[in-house]
Amino acid sequence: MAKHDAGVRYGTHRVIEPKGALPQAALVIDNSLPIHPTEMLVDVQMLNVDAASFTQMKKAAGNDPDGVAALILKTVAERGKQHNPVTGSGGMLTGVVRAVGPDYDGPVDARPGDRIATLVSLSLTPLKIDAIRKVYMDRDQVAIEGYAILFSSGIGVKLPDDFSRDAALAALDVAGAPAQAYRLVKPGMDVGIIGTGKSGLLCAIATRRVLGTTGRIFGVARRQESLDHIGSFGCLDVPILADATDPVAVLEAVHRATDGRMLDVVLNTTNTPGTEMSTVMACREGGVAYYFNMATSFTAAALGAEGIGRDVTLLIGNGYVPDHARITLDLVRSDARLRAYFEDKYGKA
Ligand code: NAP
Repeated sequence: MAKHDAGVRYGTHRVIEPKGALPQAALVIDNSLPIHPTEMLVDVQMLNVDAASFTQMKKAAGNDPDGVAALILKTVAERGKQHNPVTGSGGMLTGVVRAVGPDYDGPVDARPGDRIATLVSLSLTPLKIDAIRKVYMDRDQVAIEGYAILFSSGIGVKLPDDFSRDAALAALDVAGAPAQAYRLVKPGMDVGIIGTGKSGLLCAIATRRVLGTTGRIFGVARRQESLDHIGSFGCLDVPILADATDPVAVLEAVHRATDGRMLDVVLNTTNTPGTEMSTVMACREGGVAYYFNMATSFTAAALGAEGIGRDVTLLIGNGYVPDHARITLDLVRSDARLRAYFEDKYGKA
């Protein structure tokens, strides 16, 4: 017989409300110490807040870092985790392992003193914040003092020595996206990337690796500067300046650029709501729409696709793809410019 209840691996012993929920779906979880024997305790240094959540909080706080800090403190005090009540999304964190429970049998091969990044969402990770040291408004990161608890089912990695902590954290936050692009894209395809931020850039470079000189990459951004930036990495064939919340504008632009053939795969890496239908409408009949964007309404995507009679495979962006951390860090390592971009933008700490 198992030494602990089966649910303990998944953190069910910490769910306060509602009873029977898993920690991600729970409204409130217990973030208190001591840790359970199956858990790992981490002294947290930096939160990498999910871009959809950070964008929502920035807007709600009128772009004031103190306002964002107050929202985070409120959420964590009320819920025991950084689970944005509006977007439902979280993020991930880095820190130093303080203790490993005697019955911890999870995938993170780390000991006290090791620096790790969690690869499970903050929306399910017990978190206690003692102080917020700094909110980095331009990179979705928040330096804090506090601790987090990792269940035995929670994935994470030791931080690599050849990256700055914050650059590794930023890349690992979106590790599922380029790893998924490698799986979805096949040579010769026409691929759309809607939203050309951090995960969009990684997806575009991964897509270029698969396509080589075949197929084409269509980038959709609402600012010319974003198109120029992604284009400078050599991974953009057709720039499209359009707002992804305007599906007809995106449809018309892609229709023109493909002579009506439309796209085989469209990866949505924006961070805002209302972009579901531009993704569906950019796809050809039988194409694949992949929603990495956590501000996606899956009702809007499914009913919207049905509403226009478009047979498109709708994929929810599961942040986990086997080996995604290594795949993504290797992608960044393999391109000196990309690596420099991550270290410049996300910090050398
Ligand atoms: P990011 O760096 O902030 O990039 C988002 C991009 O979307 C920006 O370039 C932004 O353009 C663009 N964008 C926003 N609204 C747009 C619009 N209406 N039209 C065209 N472009 C628009 O974000 P990220 O870190 O790559 O994250 C992207 C998404 O992935 C987020 O929604 C995040 O929640 C999600 N995510 C998912 C998982 C998962 O497990 N599935 C994990 C991590 C993150 P501007 O520069 O013009 O604002």
